[in-house]
Amino acid sequence: MIETAKLALGNLFGLAREELERLAEECGEPRYRGRQLFSAIYGKRERDFTRLTGLSRSLRALLSSRFYIGYPEVREKLRSRDGSIRYLLALADGESVESVFMPEERRTTLCISTQVGCAVDCRFCFTALMGLRRNIATGEILGQVYSMLADRGVEKSTRLNVVFMGMGEPLLNYAAVMKASRIMADPAGLAIPARRITVSTSGVVPRIRDLGREPARPKLAVSLNASSDEQREALMPLNRKYPLLELLSACREFPLGPRERLTFEYVLLKDINDSEADARRVASLLSGIRAKVNLIPYNSGGALPYRTPALDRVLAFQSVLAARRVPTFIRISRGQDVRAACGQLRVESG
Ligand code: SF4
Repeated sequence: MIETAKLALGNLFGLAREELERLAEECGEPRYRGRQLFSAIYGKRERDFTRLTGLSRSLRALLSSRFYIGYPEVREKLRSRDGSIRYLLALADGESVESVFMPEERRTTLCISTQVGCAVDCRFCFTALMGLRRNIATGEILGQVYSMLADRGVEKSTRLNVVFMGMGEPLLNYAAVMKASRIMADPAGLAIPARRITVSTSGVVPRIRDLGREPARPKLAVSLNASSDEQREALMPLNRKYPLLELLSACREFPLGPRERLTFEYVLLKDINDSEADARRVASLLSGIRAKVNLIPYNSGGALPYRTPALDRVLAFQSVLAARRVPTFIRISRGQDVRAACGQLRVESG
């Protein structure tokens, strides 16, 4: 929880470059001081104004008296046997979000949340059980990344990937997500190329179209999870609003880069959506889309009535898609023992 004294001050973390430039002007300083602040906060990951020696002493004093640089604070962390860490991060108003740190040999992937809870109500998802508490702000989205990097002491040279796949539907908090992505991708910020930032959506069609029109955008992943409208409606009620025909037509029109593929996530639920007939229908649905499919065998074990399919069903599903030239990968969710895996994030204490 943020100290009470800090609540009287303004948090600069989450402000865009232009906002910091305007702030510098309001403080009677040239605009470029705002750019210096931007690179100190986001590039150098500085949190203490007194260490910003490139700024005048009077500006440092002024900033310290009115503002602070604050990230969500680590409330709890659970380490998985596979090396990933599930974080529970405290927001300033007492709410919490979950984020997952996944180190690999040559890169680290950070999975972050965009809402406290979620209103989309996918039936296989633990976050859905919370309902939606609120959207989270740009600084709270970005702050999850910085908080985990600080906690793990991650070097600035480490190759980072960011996935908006934690709690919440990112495209229902569109403005804050896009602003956070731009700050992450900024060469003076974390300098993560947009192609290494992925937004995963349950299929909010109008916002998919908006994303396609962004001048610089993260990659898109669509959570498909079914091979027919009937099946998808039963698993993802959002399909009633944006049925497959509409969703896949937005996907077909989504402008892809020269070597880019649209990712479709498919959580395999035993005896529900994991048959070879399902795989054949998925291949037909995706025809005409430069797609790749990530198959994610469901993680059993919670209160939800779904089970993990047997490996031979997963492999058979993959073979059907591969035979129809759809690149298909099996993704075993990381952090299963600490419930950090896909669809399992939920703040239980909240
Ligand atoms: S899977 Fe994603 S969109 Fe669906 S309820 Fe869970 S958090 Fe929301």
